[in-house]
Amino acid sequence: MRIAFASEPAHPDRPNEDFIGATADAVVLLDGASIPPGVTTACSHSVRWYSHTLGSTLLAEITQHAGPLPQLLAQAIKHVTALHEATCDLTGGGSPSATVIMLRHTAGHLDWLVLGDSTLVLDTGTPDPIVICDDRLDQIAAPHRARLDSLPVGTPDHAEARREYAETLGKYRNRDGGFWVASTDPHAADHALTGTIPTNQVRAAALLTDGAADAVNRYHLTTWRQLLDVLAQDGPAELIRNVREAERSDPHGERWPRSKPHDDASVVYCGRAHKTG
Ligand SMILES: [Zn+2]
Repeated sequence: MRIAFASEPAHPDRPNEDFIGATADAVVLLDGASIPPGVTTACSHSVRWYSHTLGSTLLAEITQHAGPLPQLLAQAIKHVTALHEATCDLTGGGSPSATVIMLRHTAGHLDWLVLGDSTLVLDTGTPDPIVICDDRLDQIAAPHRARLDSLPVGTPDHAEARREYAETLGKYRNRDGGFWVASTDPHAADHALTGTIPTNQVRAAALLTDGAADAVNRYHLTTWRQLLDVLAQDGPAELIRNVREAERSDPHGERWPRSKPHDDASVVYCGRAHKTG
C-alpha cells in the first residue's frame, strides 16, 4: 500500500487543527472543531492541542494494542481527558473536540471507524464507491443555519451568527438525540460508525476532513468516483488546490453559504503503488 497525504490550514498564519498520523498498517485522521471568537470555554487548551494530542495517542494505541477500534478510541479519549481534568473545568461542555477516522489493516481485513463528520471513501472498483460519513451533525445543524447562511461571510453580523450557531450546537454535542464527537467522554466512541471489509475487496481508501470533502458535498466539483481518480493520479494536494480555487471564486459565500471562507483541509489516500515508466 502507498499512503499519500496533504493537509492545509484555512489560513497560512493560523494553526492547522486537523491531524494526520500513519504507520504501515494504520491511519488516523482528526478534525478539531474550531471554536469561533466570542465562545468562552473553561478549558485552557487549544483545539490544535486536543486534536494533535488525541491523534498521537490514538496512533500509539492502535500500534500497541489489538481489540475493537471503539475500545482503542475510548482509551485514548480517557487518556487525554486525564491530561487536563485537574487543570481545566471539563464539566461545562466547552472543551475542545474532534472528529475521528481510524483505519487498520489486519490479516486479510480492513477495520474502520468514523466518528463525526469526516468522510471515509472505500474504492471497491465499482462505479459508486462506499462513502461513510456520520451526518448527525448536519441533520441537527440544518434548522439552525438559516440566519448564518443568509449573511455574507466576513461581516460582523455573520461572525455574531456563527457564535450563536456554535453555542446552539454545543447543546446537542455528545447527547442522545444529538451528535457525537471525541471530547472528554469516552462513551462517545460507542456512537461511532464502524465496519470491517476484506482487504481484497478494497482497491484504495480516502480519508477526508469536511474542509476537503466539500469538493463533493458543498462545491460539487467532482463525484466521489472522480475524486478517487484525482487522488490516484494527481495526489491529495491537487484536490485541496481545487477546493481552495472554488472558495476563492466565492469569497463571501454567496454561491456556497458557509461558516468561514476556508476550512482546514486534509486528505489521506491509501492506494496500490503506482506503476512507473
Ligand atoms: Zn484543557
